[in-house]
Amino acid sequence: MQLITRAQLGWPASAAADQPTTQGVKIHYEGTPVSTDLLGDHSRCIQEWQSIRASHLANKTENWVDVAYNYASCQHGYVLEGRGIGKRTGANGNQQLNRDHYAVVALIGSEGLTQPTDALLGALRDAIELLQANGAGPEIKGHRDGYPTECPGDPLYSWVQAGAPRPGGTSPAPQPEQPPTPAIARYQVTIDGQVYGYGAHGDQVTRVGQALVARGFGSHYQVGPGPDWTDADTLNYADYQRSLGYSGAAADGVPGEQSLHQLLDAALEPFPGQDFFHDGQHSDVITRMGQRLVALGFSQYRVGPGPDWGPADQASYAAFQRSLGYSGDAADGIPGPTSWAQLRVPAN
Ligand SMILES: [Zn+2]
Ligand SMILES: [Zn+2]
Repeated sequence: MQLITRAQLGWPASAAADQPTTQGVKIHYEGTPVSTDLLGDHSRCIQEWQSIRASHLANKTENWVDVAYNYASCQHGYVLEGRGIGKRTGANGNQQLNRDHYAVVALIGSEGLTQPTDALLGALRDAIELLQANGAGPEIKGHRDGYPTECPGDPLYSWVQAGAPRPGGTSPAPQPEQPPTPAIARYQVTIDGQVYGYGAHGDQVTRVGQALVARGFGSHYQVGPGPDWTDADTLNYADYQRSLGYSGAAADGVPGEQSLHQLLDAALEPFPGQDFFHDGQHSDVITRMGQRLVALGFSQYRVGPGPDWGPADQASYAAFQRSLGYSGDAADGIPGPTSWAQLRVPAN
């Protein structure tokens, strides 16, 4: 509790009558317009409280000997001492009501500053609990309870009727709902003839995983990467997509053609040159080329593909070339640099 005492306010001990116990506390507001300037300047709250006391001391009708309230609370969370502990209030309307409850006023009014901040409600709660620890019973009421007045205004009275809960504090708050777990995308796409996404299976999945790890996007793998596309692949791929500036559905972790090509370009087999492709050539590059041709649907293989360049490789590659629009010598089944780039043979 942030308490500003009478001594700090420069006030002498209260001359009000003693009232060691009550049934509880009644909440008030100023009942007049209050400047919203108070919100931005706590020193204005002190001035306000000083002027309330001065006006009460000047009030010849009520004949008050002190500010009428036991405490005030301001929008900044301060409790300002009035008559204080063990003193009868003069604010509740008549002598019986003043004996029944202590009085705490909120420094808000009927116009201008009308809505209590959480800090104000917390400071009201502080004042209530201070009084409850020093003779006040459990009742928390509004000035309007049992007396014809608008006080303490509707916003504060609603709070009183709700049991004057401490904001975000000790009152039981409704359990916040579990934040929804973002669903992990589980659909598949086919890019360059190969399937990616949850449940996809094959070397292409392993290659994506390895490329992700190589680029630093492997944090979701507990094991692997491996040939079965799991949620971990999706989550890592989503991290990679976000690194490219994608967001929302474009970063759901299921590959798009652009991001996939960008990821795998570094992992593509460079064109080995036309002379590479001749009878007797034995290379893993031939196997991987053949696997790509199979994947794209241009297989003329009866067995394989395998590492030894042969007629089935050439026939398959020729079918691929024709699909690209080549004909004649340009579709002779010997790879050229342009078609090779389009075939996207993975590096080892
Ligand atoms: Zn009142
Ligand atoms: Zn203040």
